[in-house]
Amino acid sequence: MAARRRSLPQPPPGNKYIEFRPSGIHGLGAFAIRKIRKGTRIIEYVGRKISKQESLEQLQQQNTYIFDLDEQWDLDGNVEWNPARFINHSCQPNCEALNEDGRIWIVALRTIQPGEEITFNYGYDLTDYRDHPCRCGAPNCVGYIVAEEFFEEVRRREAQRRELEARRRSTR
Ligand SMILES: [Zn+2]
Repeated sequence: MAARRRSLPQPPPGNKYIEFRPSGIHGLGAFAIRKIRKGTRIIEYVGRKISKQESLEQLQQQNTYIFDLDEQWDLDGNVEWNPARFINHSCQPNCEALNEDGRIWIVALRTIQPGEEITFNYGYDLTDYRDHPCRCGAPNCVGYIVAEEFFEEVRRREAQRRELEARRRSTR
């Protein structure tokens, strides 16, 4: 039997902005196939609507595709029919995930040129941040996948770690 190649994820029918292919950041990524204007809703981040209770259980099982929808519901994007789950995180993203009336859209933060990889900040908090290293390649990459509001805190903690390690080495 011939080896079967796994086909690449496809954007939703009618989506004219992106294609999915291997990424230098991680695994697969989404890439612009035309110029995209600032403010464009590029793709909807879809998934299962789940209760806060199930959301908590999913998070404990290391499901990293959970979005906060409202006070009652969350969105679990870890489903086959959500190609947007392949979009990579960046510390200097060209998109953001916006919640509009309970629907999550990946929206362009600036003009995006054809061929550019589509990225957004995953917005993780500091819990176990060292389990989520970042290889986005941005000049300001903080080294871990966290929301921008935590960049300074992560830099502070990492500097402290390096200092402790250096001290440990010098006293050996
Ligand atoms: Zn980064």
